[in-house]
Amino acid sequence: MKEDTRIVNAGRNPDENFGIVNPPVYRASTVTFPTVAVLESFDSHPFDGVFYGRHGTPTTFALEQAIAELEGGDRSIATASGVAAIAISLLAFAKAGDHVLVADNVYEPTRRFCNQVLKRFGIETTYYDPTIGAGIQDLLQANTKAVFAESPGSLTFEVPDIPAIAKAAHKAGAVVILDNSWATPLYFKPFEHGVDVSIQAATKYIVGHADAMLGVITTREPHFLTVRKTAANFGACSGPEECYLALRGLRTLRVRLERHAKTAHTLCNWLQGRAEVDRIFYPALAGDPGHEIWKRDFTGANGLFSFSLKEASKKAVAAMLDGMELFAIGYSWGGYESLILPIHPEKSRTATPWREGPAIRIHAGLEDPDDLIRDLDQGFKRLNAAR
Ligand SMILES: *Cc1c(COP(=O)(O)O)cnc(C)c1O
Repeated sequence: MKEDTRIVNAGRNPDENFGIVNPPVYRASTVTFPTVAVLESFDSHPFDGVFYGRHGTPTTFALEQAIAELEGGDRSIATASGVAAIAISLLAFAKAGDHVLVADNVYEPTRRFCNQVLKRFGIETTYYDPTIGAGIQDLLQANTKAVFAESPGSLTFEVPDIPAIAKAAHKAGAVVILDNSWATPLYFKPFEHGVDVSIQAATKYIVGHADAMLGVITTREPHFLTVRKTAANFGACSGPEECYLALRGLRTLRVRLERHAKTAHTLCNWLQGRAEVDRIFYPALAGDPGHEIWKRDFTGANGLFSFSLKEASKKAVAAMLDGMELFAIGYSWGGYESLILPIHPEKSRTATPWREGPAIRIHAGLEDPDDLIRDLDQGFKRLNAAR
């Protein structure tokens, strides 16, 4: 089956649901069993089947099956949010006295989890340059249990050489965990590039409509129970409504992404011609430092990118953003609507200093690009007036 056909069919089985097209929302806490023997049969195959609401209902399993199939892993685990998926994945592999390597360009809450939670549990984090490639071998220690990457970083868009990192990590006995949210399960196939555990903030493009929180962890079979048990112990399960919304969003993921990426390219081309703009950070653009690896490993892009300004006061950037009519100021991305956000990588980075000018992140939504350009053009007028 070609991938577009999989997107339409994965996790769906109308024959089991009165012919109804979408897997229905099964809500449950208690699940009842006809006999003690059936109840106890679950002891030999935990996490297979409908056992208790926290461990998932058929709606959860439909989503998990669909994502595992599209990412090319063996099994998936739905979690309460993308951050829950990150926390569970890291704690599944590290214990007190262990060490993890985390890319310097990761999503801010990932870094906060390492600095605040892992640290308190006696797990040390070293941040590495995301473009380090095979050079990561020099940072791997005897107690390094996991190497965590985000590709590309969702603020500054460096593209790590995942196969090179994975090769070194595996040689040292560490697992490779990837936050694959930007690429979605469609545009980067983590398990073909040496990743052991892949994370989706399904909140973003999979749900696609800015109305649900959800994470998904996908693993190869040897790591499944390690991660599944950790997820169960944390109790951070997803709700069935959220899984339903993710399954619904999934069906249109490809067509949405194509339009998001097309508009992002249009906006980038226009921004490149603006005197106020210094650099654009979007690996799908020829000339971007991550472009070669992106071209080698990815099959598509989306609507999320950043750019830096040559010079602009904080006040001028605020004047530009505050008056936007179509771009809303807000966190997250992946919905149908355009977003704009001032970003401050210089405040968080520790391994690779950020020396660019004031930076702004854009999520190009599904509006007409001409209207978005008009909104940005007005924004630059306010920026220049407030300099
Ligand atoms: C938003 C985001 C997350 C976290 O997802 P939530 O569902 O908001 O917890 C993780 N990684 C990346 C790259 C994100 O952008």
